[in-house]
Amino acid sequence: MTHSAPQSDLGTHEVHNQPGSRGDCDLWARDPVLRSVAALTGEQRDPLRSYAKTLGRAKLRDAARQANRHTPELDLFDRGGRRLDEVRFHPAYHKFMEISVAAGYAAIAWEGGDGGHATHAAMVYLASQVEPGHCCPLTMTYAAVPVISAADGISDAWRPKALSRTYDPSLRPIAQKSGATIGMALTEKQGGSDIRTNTTRAEADGAAWRLTGHKWFCSAPMSDGFLTLAQAPGGLTCFLVPRWLEDGRNRIRIQRLKDKLGNRSNASAEIEYDRAYGHQLGETGRGIQTIVEMIHHTRLDTAMAPAGLMRAALVEALHWAAHRTAFQKNLIDQPLMRTVFADLTLDWEGSLALGMRVARAFDGTRDEDRAFARIGVALAKFMTNKLCPVVVGEAMEVLGGGGYIEDSPLPMLYREAPLNGIWEGSGNVICLDVLRTLAKDPGTRDALNAELETVAGQDTKYDAALNAYRARWKGLAAEGEARWFVEQTALLLTASLLIRQAPDPIADAFVSTRLSGERGRISGTVSNLNTRAILSRMDPMD
Ligand SMILES: Cc1cc2nc3c(=O)[nH]c(=O)nc-3n(C[C@H](O)[C@H](O)[C@H](O)COP(=O)(O)OP(=O)(O)OC[C@H]3O[C@@H](n4cnc5c(N)ncnc54)[C@H](O)[C@@H]3O)c2cc1C
Repeated sequence: MTHSAPQSDLGTHEVHNQPGSRGDCDLWARDPVLRSVAALTGEQRDPLRSYAKTLGRAKLRDAARQANRHTPELDLFDRGGRRLDEVRFHPAYHKFMEISVAAGYAAIAWEGGDGGHATHAAMVYLASQVEPGHCCPLTMTYAAVPVISAADGISDAWRPKALSRTYDPSLRPIAQKSGATIGMALTEKQGGSDIRTNTTRAEADGAAWRLTGHKWFCSAPMSDGFLTLAQAPGGLTCFLVPRWLEDGRNRIRIQRLKDKLGNRSNASAEIEYDRAYGHQLGETGRGIQTIVEMIHHTRLDTAMAPAGLMRAALVEALHWAAHRTAFQKNLIDQPLMRTVFADLTLDWEGSLALGMRVARAFDGTRDEDRAFARIGVALAKFMTNKLCPVVVGEAMEVLGGGGYIEDSPLPMLYREAPLNGIWEGSGNVICLDVLRTLAKDPGTRDALNAELETVAGQDTKYDAALNAYRARWKGLAAEGEARWFVEQTALLLTASLLIRQAPDPIADAFVSTRLSGERGRISGTVSNLNTRAILSRMDPMD
């Protein structure tokens, strides 16, 4: 909604010292760190540039607000009591889907160009800054592509639709659609982390299957198909369950929509399969091994999105601090405020650098790249998600009372902040995965060590921290200290990236405060940072 010119003179008082909106902000032009860590060349950069410019428009920030205020509604039955099982979204949600599908959010990684996963990851980062809810169906679609592509008889029908640049929300069989989205239905009431406990049953029906049971969380229930785990006679197996069949709706019943803390523009449902028709994907009894490929890719997005949420919150806070005065100075010129901002900026820059390094490994073709992607994605997912709620909460505080009010995007970002740390493997599960991966897969140990070694000898504090880490964990960490181990590994990895690619004041500050003990437990408990150099990374134009 566009407002007419607001009136400052209200008769009883004059409105002043209330910074206005940021207006249009090109999310690419104003983000020097993204431009540098994405490390993309001309042809790869172009789609990102125009996507970032579009998303940065003030009217899309307003649309995001609408999409999250007017949340999806469930239409279970028509007026005569016939089943519909449909979810209606605000037009602003459809607008975001249309823009992101056209930009290639789900498709670009699989189109064969160089740097496809890095471009995709940068899109996740950009979209999360503006309207994170619609990322969910597109991330799942991106991540489902390798699984459906490996399935003979499925790939031809589904892959081109998943890779389409046309958003088609219509309710039709896949053959009649110009584009499709794909969701995942794994979690059941009795267990989400331990999906071996799934009870949904699959019975053979000719060449296909009939699935019966429930799924406790199924986001984006309007997707065209769902990768689902169910117990077949030969064990837990992966299936593709289409929402619509040639002769009408499949037997998927929506029970209710979740009343979620955040992520409100996106629908998440409880569903039941009542002899729903499904196609088998992968081998019987190897459902987890089949779906793991999808989870590997969704984890990349859940590692990247927090960097976008942190940036959106910090940029909003920086704008406020640059234009709001208290005690005769702009807030941003108050020494303590600068210290807090600088410390938060290091968390954001480190998260972005780490996420994009992992994304580039997804593009690599060497064994070392694949090994690094396997371990790096878990390290990044844990670290960026643990930082995100803290950084977004601090950014909210910068706006004072106004940060708590729905007029700014801060409440929406704050509600979103914990989510990527929960789905696709919650914190502890991810840390245990890191231990398991390093124990089972020597390639991941070598890839990680090579990355940590790259900067050895360049920074005495880094070297000391790396030596202490190696002395502490000669072998692998015990399960009970997995979080400590993963945090230290992720911090070292981030520091090694910043030493390689960030200006010295940023790398020095990160190493001193995160690896050498020159920081308390709370954001801003640091001193002597080069705040000018660090803050210029956030938004050089504000
Ligand atoms: C908004 C939203 C949307 C979702 N959408 C989907 C969807 O589309 N499809 C889908 O399949 N699922 C979806 N989920 C479900 C999500 O993936 C699960 O909630 C998540 O995997 C955790 O499972 P759970 O809730 O059963 O918790 P549990 O598995 O019971 O875990 C609870 C806690 O215990 C910890 N834990 C588990 N095992 C261990 C261990 N061995 N040692 C130490 N700690 C442990 C976990 O880290 C977690 O913190 C969604 C969730 C949310 C919130």
